[in-house]
Amino acid sequence: MSPTGEEPSAVATSPSNCPACSALTEGTAWQRYRVCSRCRYHFQLTAAERIELLADPDSFRPSNPTLISVDPLVFTDRVSYRDRLERARRETSLNEAVVTGTARINGRDCVLAVFDFNFMGGSMGSVVGEKVALAHEAAAERRVPFISVVSSGGARMQEGMLSLVQMGKTAAAAMRLHQAGVPSITVLTNPTTGGVYASFASQGDFLLAEPGALIGFAGPRVIEQLTGEPPPAGTHTAEFLLQHGQLDGVVDRARLRGVLATLLQLFHSRGPVEVRSAPEPYRPPNTPPLSAWPEVELARRDDRPTSADYIRRLMPQFVELRGDRVYGDDAAVIAGIGDLAGITVCAIGQERGHGDPKRNGGRVRPEGFRKAARIMRLAAELRFPLITFIDTPGAHLDYESEARGLAGSLSSCLANMSVLPVPVVSVVIGEGGSGPALALGVADRILMQEHAVYSVIAPEGAAAIVHRDAARARDIADALKMTAYDCLVLGVVDAIVPEPENGAHLDPDYAALLLRGEVISALLELRKRDSRRLVEERWRKFRRMGEFQRLVEVEAADSQRAEALRTAMRHAFGSLGQLRERWPTRERRQQGATSTT
Ligand SMILES: [Zn+2]
Repeated sequence: MSPTGEEPSAVATSPSNCPACSALTEGTAWQRYRVCSRCRYHFQLTAAERIELLADPDSFRPSNPTLISVDPLVFTDRVSYRDRLERARRETSLNEAVVTGTARINGRDCVLAVFDFNFMGGSMGSVVGEKVALAHEAAAERRVPFISVVSSGGARMQEGMLSLVQMGKTAAAAMRLHQAGVPSITVLTNPTTGGVYASFASQGDFLLAEPGALIGFAGPRVIEQLTGEPPPAGTHTAEFLLQHGQLDGVVDRARLRGVLATLLQLFHSRGPVEVRSAPEPYRPPNTPPLSAWPEVELARRDDRPTSADYIRRLMPQFVELRGDRVYGDDAAVIAGIGDLAGITVCAIGQERGHGDPKRNGGRVRPEGFRKAARIMRLAAELRFPLITFIDTPGAHLDYESEARGLAGSLSSCLANMSVLPVPVVSVVIGEGGSGPALALGVADRILMQEHAVYSVIAPEGAAAIVHRDAARARDIADALKMTAYDCLVLGVVDAIVPEPENGAHLDPDYAALLLRGEVISALLELRKRDSRRLVEERWRKFRRMGEFQRLVEVEAADSQRAEALRTAMRHAFGSLGQLRERWPTRERRQQGATSTT
């Protein structure tokens, strides 16, 4: 049927047994969601069933329902395209494979595009492409979020190249929606392959999928035909793609409406909010801690609150986003979108996970940096302020990290952060270890918890280099000037956030409350600036860092020398404009000389 070779299977509306576990289909999960009560197998739904499950009652208004396909190639295989279309219309009571329109979800407006696999395998011909593009345009024009629910075999062979170019058209429409700063969500359902998956569907700002859904550019049968053997079991599933960084989440159908409603609510509440009074700023301690080592030990405690602990307490409405959309999902970085006191923000943090091995102690891999950079770009596109939580001993160091671009991915975080057109607040909450810590720290306001540490190298590493003995870390910690007090004096952080007496681990709730006040007051202050000023001031903030007295003097002397040189050149060549006029002549002469040799 479609170029991907996935034949549409008829949707059984009332099968008697689950194809996955053979249990009888019965019970409320089946009745309400068409989900197996025993194994959660998700049956296919028609577009109408989807809309009924997702949209508020009677809120859906279809758009362009009368557009119908023609047969531009007069295509015939076993059956003529015209007859196929006729049969699909009769069997589905639809005019095409996608239903578009406006709707509300939990009272919030959105534009919906819902595919129906029963109509020629949800394949995308001219009409499907046109309706998808129109729906994107409607979302951009009305500035309401765009949600597509996709199940498709890909392009529609019967319309030839006219079908293929719909990929370009719909991806372009999605890109224009990005440029307009309007959020988009794609829900991938069973099955999604080929040209729909590889065009607008993958462009969603948020990519969700239903459990067990078959998803892939080329379906497993195509791969088997090409390679002679079937791909390993479990590939081409939503779970496989989540693990490989391609999805933000796998969401059970019973929870899908809730997740979409939360996201729509978060998109909605990004307008300016009034907070009557910002909390009193904290006065940093006047005296430094007696020695740095106890601070290092406090910062590294397994029971010290982590990014996830603070995010949970600061943002009760939080949707986690996963994956770098390239290779994997690094659990050492937690990221998402949430509501902080009525302001929708993007949040990124390194997550040590209290010893949970999958968090890798907060040691970041390239996938983690790429995920962070992706969320930074999302914050820029949708104009959400960014809050980052810094808590990492460093990067995950092995040859595989190098092969997958450790330095490059870290660097892209630094570079992306520097130009974000939104307020950026960073908090060092634990161990701020070297470059991987700074990767989340190019911020407008850099806060540091009282007992956190921040340093260019771990004391063990420094001791190994200086004393050839990592055990002497305790001695060298003081010299590294890594306590919150030191960092404030050095000017690398802007403020110290107080902790409950003797450390945040003794009262995480109170620690979160103290942190919340500081973050909100920083955000409120930054929100008064426009994006140009934010970026300019952030640049100047980092541009200044590291300049100390002697260097400034050298620079001043240098600039005097440079000015003297410019004056001498003006005397020799006249004005800069006159000087430029001579260049083309010389270049032409040189080119001429080259071409004759
Ligand atoms: Zn089942």
